[in-house]
Amino acid sequence: MKAIRVNQHGGPEVLSYEDVPVPEPGEGEVRVRLAAAGVNYIDTYRRSGLYPTEPPFTLGSEGAGEVDAVGEGVEEFSVGDYVAWASAPGSYAEYVVVPAENLVPVNVTLVEARVAAAAMLQGMTAHYLTHSTFPLEEGHTALVHAAAGGVGLLLCQMAKMRGATVIGTAGTEEKARLAREAGADEMILYTEQDFVEETRRITGGEGVDVVYDSVGRTTFDGSLDCLKMRGYMVLFGQSSGPVPPVDLQILNQKGGLFVTRPSLAHYTATREELLWRAESILSWIGQNNLQVRIGGTYALSDAAQAHRDLEGRKTTGKLILIP
Ligand code: NDP
Repeated sequence: MKAIRVNQHGGPEVLSYEDVPVPEPGEGEVRVRLAAAGVNYIDTYRRSGLYPTEPPFTLGSEGAGEVDAVGEGVEEFSVGDYVAWASAPGSYAEYVVVPAENLVPVNVTLVEARVAAAAMLQGMTAHYLTHSTFPLEEGHTALVHAAAGGVGLLLCQMAKMRGATVIGTAGTEEKARLAREAGADEMILYTEQDFVEETRRITGGEGVDVVYDSVGRTTFDGSLDCLKMRGYMVLFGQSSGPVPPVDLQILNQKGGLFVTRPSLAHYTATREELLWRAESILSWIGQNNLQVRIGGTYALSDAAQAHRDLEGRKTTGKLILIP
């Protein structure tokens, strides 16, 4: 089968389209023939070595497809079922083996497999951020950075479902338009405008209850200045680079702020929690209450181009790879 291998850390050029053996499912595992693999920013960190994974390895962690073989002891899934997942190393491939406990059933008459592949990781991220990390309520105002990105567009929609007011940031007018369509009440072009001043102006000087910040290095300090007293700084990514160490005294000076740095794994720690988030998302998509924008569809062999586009800020919504 074909797969995207990383034989050494580096830029997109290290992604190598190779022949590898089809993996065999072990006990408690399922083999899936992929309909689509999701591209996520974390894949770029694993490729570059920012998140250490020893090469050689097959990249990817998210996808959806049809069960092709089941290992011993698997009762929940059978050959022919459609499934999706957010956490299975080696998903940039034609086939992947996934622990059954990481799989979610997909009703493909309601949600296409490639849409399910597109929704899992970023959808569950937007879900935990808005429902659990800082559970939004009516009356809250949230600042969402990179609001037209994969997580961003879903975050805007879910924040609106919770009744919050959403201020978004984006790099271009076109991206701002997409985020407004996803529900953002106000948009700031943070490449041209000072997002701290704009957020203060929009909120009448008060600031926001929470900042969902996936951009990291270039926005972190400003994000703290956008918060109300006792506001929540939720740093969940680093698209512009990692945030340097912070003097905690700053949180006192800026108003008794809270800071957290969560990951999806912390919020899908039990099977029950994983199914709650994944099934909520799939059912909203099936009922047309959540739109998943697939902003780029690439052949598996073009994974390097998908990475260039993602890191080059050229993309909106979700990118998927088709084996
Ligand atoms: P996005 O689709 O959001 O792409 C990244 C966007 O970030 C760009 O399009 C760009 O939007 C913005 N950006 C701002 N500065 C830069 C920069 N210097 N370089 C590149 N992009 C920049 O990606 P994802 O939705 O896949 O992921 C968003 C972030 O969320 C990532 O940092 C990822 O690691 C994180 N994440 C964290 C999870 C968690 O559980 N903690 C789970 C999933 C994702 P613009 O042009 O509008 O500024």
